[in-house]
Amino acid sequence: MVKIKEIDSIKSDKLDMKTIINKIKEILNSGYQEEAIVVKDNNVIKKHEIYWALKYLGTKFIAVSNEEENVKVSLDFLGFYDEVSDPGIRVYNNTIELIERDRPTPLVKLNGIINDKKIGIWAKLEWYNPFSLSIKDRTAWYIIYNNLDKLSDKEKIFEATSANTGIAIAAISSILGKKTRVFMPETSPDYASKLLKIYGSDVVREGNTTNELIEKVKIYAEKENAFVPNQFSNIFNLLVHLRYTAKEIDYQTIYGKLKLNGIFASMGTGGHIAGLIFYFHNKNKAVKIFGIQPEENGTIPGIKKQDFKNWWNINDSPDDIYSVSLEESIDVLITTARTNGILPGISGGAVLAGLKKAYNNGDLDEGDYVCIIPDNGIKYLDEIYNERVL
Ligand code: PLP
Repeated sequence: MVKIKEIDSIKSDKLDMKTIINKIKEILNSGYQEEAIVVKDNNVIKKHEIYWALKYLGTKFIAVSNEEENVKVSLDFLGFYDEVSDPGIRVYNNTIELIERDRPTPLVKLNGIINDKKIGIWAKLEWYNPFSLSIKDRTAWYIIYNNLDKLSDKEKIFEATSANTGIAIAAISSILGKKTRVFMPETSPDYASKLLKIYGSDVVREGNTTNELIEKVKIYAEKENAFVPNQFSNIFNLLVHLRYTAKEIDYQTIYGKLKLNGIFASMGTGGHIAGLIFYFHNKNKAVKIFGIQPEENGTIPGIKKQDFKNWWNINDSPDDIYSVSLEESIDVLITTARTNGILPGISGGAVLAGLKKAYNNGDLDEGDYVCIIPDNGIKYLDEIYNERVL
């Protein structure tokens, strides 16, 4: 007999990620749990892949049986959206709950970016995350909390980062009583070194890009028995955006009654856009995902041109890519400050500049578009101020 149980009351052995990812894809495509998991004494004995797929999709419930049975239970019925809806009175027992439970981040309509009433532009404000005041809190938290077993005999966490991930890791390490060493390129902003030191982290500044530091970090970590989250290829960097960032946008646009045509996102590790692509290209293909990169030879903090070969092992990529300059990014974020009273960070400016380009090319349809704003402009005050000599 099929019963609906809380997923956290069920236990299952770990499974290889590839099998789980394939099952997640299947479930997102159908929108249903189509077979009950088979349990004995609340332990999964068959259909482990369904258990893990729903676990990483973040449903509250799961359909179980003591024998193999077909079912048709919608994700909605299984409490798929519960964890991203209504944080209620917002009283939390500790600071980690601010990232675990204080969801979703706000989605706000912006005025004055393009002059067309038929197109709604909505900014998802990721500086509302608690530690680094950026989207990278999600990545740092999810990688670390899904690797607590690997971390248990280690005292240190080492990571290469342009700034935000390092700050998020340093904050979360403090909560866990671990020590962090952050490897940042010389080009990273100075406030980041200061903030990291305040958090008690060691800081190594070297080279021009984070890419140059990835191998070095691995070598040091091996010598000193440190854990490396490795945001650049850790699958939990994609899964956190699939489970939360994408699901939040889906929930907010469905219940906010928007006509979501597309999402614009910048690309650094590619983690957040890959999560969005995986989610929407399987669950709702009408939603297009657009990537933003710096123009040839240009630099924009936190983002870079991607190599889509074997990219995140999802066999997929953005529907279109727009290249923008630093000047265009700063221009639009100053417009945003002067028309909406908020100052996105520079990569957020790049996303808005990319949307403007898409509009000017005639690529946008009537309806709504979401722009992911990774962090806040206060972090880049001098760069923004000096660029425009205000
Ligand atoms: N914008 C900023 C300010 C960032 O710090 C980052 C990543 O570090 C990104 C954009 C890109 O995000 P992702 O690594 O998910 O591609």
